Amino acid sequence: MTEQELILTEVLNCNRIDLYLGSPSLTKENKERLMWMQQRRMSGEPLQYIIGHCDFMGIPLNVDERALIPRPETEILVECVLEKMKAASKSPLNILDLGTGSGNVAIALASLASLAVHQKGCFVTSVDISPGAITLAKENAQRNNVADRIQFVCGDMQSFMRQLMSEGKSFDGIVSNPPYIKTADLSFLPKDVQHEPHTALDGGKDGLFYHRLIVEYGARLLRDQGLLALEIGDGQRVDLAQMLSQTSYQQVQFIKDYRGTDRIILATHSLEKG
Ligand code: GLN
Repeated sequence: MTEQELILTEVLNCNRIDLYLGSPSLTKENKERLMWMQQRRMSGEPLQYIIGHCDFMGIPLNVDERALIPRPETEILVECVLEKMKAASKSPLNILDLGTGSGNVAIALASLASLAVHQKGCFVTSVDISPGAITLAKENAQRNNVADRIQFVCGDMQSFMRQLMSEGKSFDGIVSNPPYIKTADLSFLPKDVQHEPHTALDGGKDGLFYHRLIVEYGARLLRDQGLLALEIGDGQRVDLAQMLSQTSYQQVQFIKDYRGTDRIILATHSLEKG
């Protein structure tokens, strides 16, 4: 659908085809709402925030300025994890999701793992530093009937990982789309991305602040042969490969996005190497 069609179907609460088959008339209220939405769009606000929802892997999610809008590239991250889960012998799998945002990754894994992979699917522990994002993610989990399979925690990922370590917890997989834009590049992002929460985008001086944390703590939280699956920024492949080669990870794989850029890194934690 075009942007105009998306806005109109939202205002009229109808399907795309209804816009063309009937000749829907706009009430005064509808006209005002339409104008309000168009003004917001013209001022650069992302379309998904204006209509208040989006689709991630066929899963309907509420979205607003409390969290980053799920991107198509992140669907590749989830697909890779689901594919790897197929080979796992135990079920349900225990997954840690770091920086959950709208809850897209956790909800997609909780929903799709039980359909496609294992009868019992997976159980996800999700953390995000933003209380707004956690509230939104909980709403989305309820909307998609997976609230009983995800534990949401509000806190910073480093303290949370420390806590998990002190409790002796271990995971079959760690998955994250962490903030990975260099701080100095934030002000050059397109206008609509500027509307999204900076905490969800700012990856520190070199954009790798969170990857470093996750790689380091992940080595202590993953069980032997557990999976690390991360989204990465443009040009971060070499640094990530080096980071992983110096630690207890093996079988490092890079997966490209739809534009041919290395976007996902997969690695297996090996107690032998560590
Ligand atoms: N993919 C997002 C962007 O390019 C960044 C997401 C992130 O930092 N994890 O705007």
